[in-house]
Parts: sequence; structure tokens; C-alpha cells
Amino acid sequence: MTMPIWLDKRASLTPGRTAIEAGNVQLSFAQLRQQAQGVATKLLNKGLEERAVLACLSESSVALVVLVHSIPYTGACLMPLNTRLTVHELLYQLQDSGCKFLVYSDSYADTAARLKQELNHLTLVSLAELQALSTAAAASRQLLHDVEEQAVYTIMYTSGTTGHPKGVLQSYNNHWSSAVGSMLNLGLSTQDKWLLAVPMFHISGLSILMRSVIYGIAVVIQERFDPKEANEAIMSQGVTVMSVVSNMLVRMLEQLGERRYPQAFRCMLLGGGPAPLPLLETCVEKGIPVVQTYGMTETCSQFATLQPEYMLTKIGSAGKPLFQGELRILQDGQVMSAGEAGEIVVRGPNVTSGYLNQASADSFEQGWLHTGDVGYLDEEGFLYVLDRRKDMLISGGENVYPAEIEAVLMSHPEVLEAGVTSTEHEVWGQSPIAFVVLRQENVVNQEKLLEHCKARLAKYKLPIAIHTVRELPRNAAGKLLRRELTKLLPIT
Ligand code: ATP
Ligand code: MG
Repeated sequence: MTMPIWLDKRASLTPGRTAIEAGNVQLSFAQLRQQAQGVATKLLNKGLEERAVLACLSESSVALVVLVHSIPYTGACLMPLNTRLTVHELLYQLQDSGCKFLVYSDSYADTAARLKQELNHLTLVSLAELQALSTAAAASRQLLHDVEEQAVYTIMYTSGTTGHPKGVLQSYNNHWSSAVGSMLNLGLSTQDKWLLAVPMFHISGLSILMRSVIYGIAVVIQERFDPKEANEAIMSQGVTVMSVVSNMLVRMLEQLGERRYPQAFRCMLLGGGPAPLPLLETCVEKGIPVVQTYGMTETCSQFATLQPEYMLTKIGSAGKPLFQGELRILQDGQVMSAGEAGEIVVRGPNVTSGYLNQASADSFEQGWLHTGDVGYLDEEGFLYVLDRRKDMLISGGENVYPAEIEAVLMSHPEVLEAGVTSTEHEVWGQSPIAFVVLRQENVVNQEKLLEHCKARLAKYKLPIAIHTVRELPRNAAGKLLRRELTKLLPIT
């Protein structure tokens, strides 16, 4: 089965609508198509073949958006690289994927040159050169007009929060189903404008670009997240939807102060990690339409999302699977009943068919993906995500989820951020240990915070120590790297 290239179709349906806003630059869908076809032509002339892997190393930019949309015309597949990785880590991904083309932005020219030194066969192409206005000569082979639904559009490595990132194969159909499923849940207005301030090399950012051409809505691009700029875009640039992880939202609320977002702002899509209850409650108090979602690179963004009408009654839940998705909670191969925790296992058209080079093939079983996350369904089938299985600790035989303790710490008014991990304990086997960033230094001490926890957590969940630190280790997506927390411990 094939489908028309989305940007082609979109530019024929609504050519004049705005596709992208970034600073002073504004592109309509017709202009975006023209540029994407120009870039595709240049790539073909450089010898890019169908199904070849083309990597890109660039900050979020209009040029990168154009590159993303040029790929379907060439039949190649795109591998967005995380700009925060080291040369060593990038080399691993380039070799793992058999990549022969690397497109880089000016900021990463040195890195690209170092990669070329190690991988002689790599063809380097500068993004600026691809963007240059000169009209490209006719392509050495014809631009495509259709894509195979099952063909791989992107190879995206997971965030590497728990260890080595895995290359996820994302097909056109995966992205399409993800975008359509999201829209059937959140709704769509021709006035919609989605703020993109998360990395484009992660699925949270890339999926916004897919939605834009499928829905015909504008994307506002901010190269890097800044709470003030993000709030400005919502207050005065007509943004109606924004994707965030919890730490971004915490910082935006701090900056927002007593102000309120305009009525037109209809969705703050919060995902990527545990959503602490106090944060959700603050949003409700301030009238911020926060919508919790659960998803991953392997599901091409959202898998389950809380339906907006349940925002108040099901606070803390990630909702139900999007339209075509199925979800089970399994423990030792058995399907768990309501209220019982187990591994979240998912199936649906937005779920990847597998990892590159079959890494972690044991995560798949008859079309079902074992996510490695623990959660439960309530009596009405609403999903509550507890934590990652790998991060769960067992203290005196009881399961402890760091996310629960982090949420309790963050409910203290002086705590801005919290991270919890496990440490070995002579008696209990493992015990939680906490790290917090305070709003102001020295206003509250460890004993006070511990008292706060004692009133809200069972004894076996209490952290054995609470350390105050300046910042918590996070990856490019802003996700907490719990495995790096103990590096913050004072040397004894
Ligand atoms: P890696 O797989 O390399 O360790 P990662 O899992 O962080 O990295 P992503 O695919 O970006 O890479 O993130 C998906 C994960 O984020 C989920 O599997 C889950 O652990 C976590 N997550 C996403 N949404 C939620 C949520 N609503 N609540 C709790 N955790 C969430
Ligand atoms: Mg993962």
C-alpha cells in the first residue's frame, strides 16, 4: 500500500496556510514544499539512494524542518542525531545504522569533520549548502510522489535514559497513525498552532512536524527551550498547543507568576516521564489545560493520553490508549486486574515493528511491545504509570517507585525539583535516596523535608538521606537521569 507524500497533498489542499514560524521567518505549505523538493533534488544529485540512511546533526531550525520533509521525495530514511552526544556515541549510531550520508548544520561542522576522519566513506553535506537559494539542476532520478506505508521514514534512537539508546524503526504508517490518533483525541482546529521547544531529534519534537503537514497547522519553532520565550509565544503569538516534559512546565509556571494563559491556549501536552501530582494540581488551580500523556520513541509519540474532559476527575492518569491502540498490564505472563500493577504491554499501528539490528528483540511478542514500564489500570480502564521497571527498588521486600517519592518531595513548597534513586542498605537490601533542588537556598533543611515525607509516605518508602544540590542530571530531552544521581553525592 502506498500513500501520497503528506507535504505534497497538504500543499495542494491548503497552499497558503502557514506551516512554520521561527523568529522572523514564516513559510507557507507551498513554500515549504518548494524548498523540500529543492533539497531532495540536491540530495539525489549527491547520490543519495532509495532506502539509504541519511543522518542529520543540527539544532532545531527551519532548515532542519525542510530536510525532514525532503526525505520522502528521495525514498531514503532519516536518522536525526542527538546533538548532545559525544563523537564516540555518534560513531556508534552511524556504524550501527550503516549510514553513508551526514547532513550537518554550521554549529556542528567540527563534529562532522571528526566523524568523517573515523568513517572515511561518510559523505558530508552542509545544511546551509542544501538550503542555498540556487535552483538545483534537474535530479539525477525522479522525485517520488508516493511512499510505501510500511517503509521506514525515520530511524530514531531512544533517549538513552536507562542505558544504551536503541535504534527504533519508525514507518510512515507509524507516524501517520500516531498523528491521526492524537487528533481524534485532542481535536483539531484550523487555528491551531503547536509550539515546538523540545528537541526535533526526539520523537516529542519530530512528531509535531508530522502533525503539522497531516493536519495543516502551523508550528512555532524555538531553537532551545526558554521559559520566558515559551510563555510569550502562548501569551501573544497565538500558540494553542505545546508539548512539554514536567521540568519545562515547572519552569514555565515559575516564570508565569500570577498571569494566566489566554482562552485560546487549549492543550499543554505533558509527557516523557512521570507527572508529579502537585504539578498537575497547580495547573488545575491556574486554569492551565494540562493533558497527561504516556508514550515513547517506540510508539512514535503518544500511546495513551487523558481525554481532556477527564482532566479534573482522573488527575494523575495518562488516560486510555489512542483510538487504534490496545494495552495490557502483565505480570509473570498473566493479565492483571484493575488496580494491580504490572508491566505495560502495548500494540497498535503506531508501534514500531522493531529495533535496528534486532536489538532487544525480546521486547516484542506477537506484535505486542513490552515497554519496561510499570503501571496499572483503574476500574474504568484509565492508565496510571508508576515508573520504569528498572528504576523500581525493593526495600524490605516491598516495591518502591522513585516517582512517587519525587512527587511527595515536590509537593513541598520550597522544593523545585526532586530526583530519587536506590542505594544499597544492609538491612533492607535497597533504600531510596533523594536529591532536591530548592527554590531558595537554606530555607528548609533535611529534617523538615523528611518530616514532610513521613506524613505522606509509608516508612519503607522514606529516603535514607535527602541531599540538596544545585541541579539534577538531565538528558537533552530534559529527562531526569536517575542513574547519574549518586554521582552528586559528596565524596566521603
Ligand atoms: P531509553 O529507552 O533509551 O532508556 P527513554 O525510554 O527515556 O530512553 P523515550 O522513548 O524518549 O526514551 O521515553 C519513553 C519513556 O518515558 C517511557 O517508556 C516511560 O518510561 C517514560 N514516560 C513517558 N511518558 C510517561 C508518563 N506519562 N509517566 C511516566 N513515564 C513516562
Ligand atoms: Mg525506553
